[in-house]
Amino acid sequence: MQISTKAIPYGRQTITDADIEAVVAILKSDYLTQGPSIAQFEEKFANYVGAKYAIALANGTAALHLCAMALDVNETTRVITSPITFAASANCVRYCGGEVHFADINPATFLLDINKVRALLSSKPKGYFKGIIPVHFAGNTVDMEAYRALASEYDCWIIEDACHAPGGYFVDSKNVQQHCGNGNFADLAIFSFHPVKHIATGEGGMITTNSKRLYDKINVLRTHGITKDATKFTNNPADVTQGGWYYEMQELGYNYRLTDFQAALGTSQLARANEGLARRREIAARYDAAFANTKVTTPLSYHGNAYHLYVIQTNDRLGLYNHLKTQNIFAQVHYVPVHLMPYYAQFGHKKGDYPLAEAYYDKCLSLPMYPALSNEEQDFVIDTILKYIN
Ligand SMILES: *Cc1c(COP(=O)(O)O)cnc(C)c1O
Repeated sequence: MQISTKAIPYGRQTITDADIEAVVAILKSDYLTQGPSIAQFEEKFANYVGAKYAIALANGTAALHLCAMALDVNETTRVITSPITFAASANCVRYCGGEVHFADINPATFLLDINKVRALLSSKPKGYFKGIIPVHFAGNTVDMEAYRALASEYDCWIIEDACHAPGGYFVDSKNVQQHCGNGNFADLAIFSFHPVKHIATGEGGMITTNSKRLYDKINVLRTHGITKDATKFTNNPADVTQGGWYYEMQELGYNYRLTDFQAALGTSQLARANEGLARRREIAARYDAAFANTKVTTPLSYHGNAYHLYVIQTNDRLGLYNHLKTQNIFAQVHYVPVHLMPYYAQFGHKKGDYPLAEAYYDKCLSLPMYPALSNEEQDFVIDTILKYIN
């Protein structure tokens, strides 16, 4: 096989003519932002994941920040998350001044190990920890029912980081498929629409929840903490003008809004989400088959997996990574463990704290995984890897 002339990244967006037309229609309309496209995208997305409410945001990190704010994270709040995730999963706690704690991963699933979380929770008095942020890492889904039971036992809230798993699901104890972010178990769930994720809007994010209280709170925080709802005004009624212009800023919020052309792109992309998911699963099955009985360790596979990433384990990760690059194949590493980030060293986190996460990191490599990856391109990737490894 020949060297690929077209670069093959680990992930990328798929943009169709319909997507472009949807965006152009908004550019020609009256509202570039704060228009009707936002609510349409939110409604369709809530439907897709099976949650009551969805709130579109500027990006997934903004979504995490507002979740932490809505759950009253402050300087006294301790939260547990996985060391194998994107830094933003932990950073949202820090934005609000809280303390980040980690527990090690399950080496079979690469997900935050619930037994380690339980051990950590039980090592302190009840109330010491306030929240848990599990992550559906790589699209491999967390058993949210088990986390809910554990969190309830310790009066903790849950933010479900579902950035890797729109459309993914786990099977609960009653044999029911529970979709990621459906609001049945977590207080709040978040998604990202960065171009490498399943649904692309450039930058973009979403919070889903079944809690009207949290939904209302986040809606206000998304727009500066401003409300125009007259029933919520707190200024002296004599000071409250009857004019339609009146509004109150009642708490310190942000401008974390998504634009209407991004929302239109999101709605258009969402219409093809199941198609993309099916293709991701097909690509995963082809990798699984190609690497069976080779030195390449493949990830655990099961049907609820949304396959944001396809992560192999290999003893010569650096060599393989560099070799793939010479062939125009840009594999990636997800992730450098969060507890090893220099920023987190100031809180006492250090190498050796989470040996399973660190062992995973030493060998992991994310192979190209996106719906537009052709069979020919994938075969070239597989062939290049097997020739190098064997
Ligand atoms: C992408 C991602 C985020 C952040 O989303 P952005 O839209 O890039 O801000 C958070 N958590 C995880 C697990 C992610 O993959």
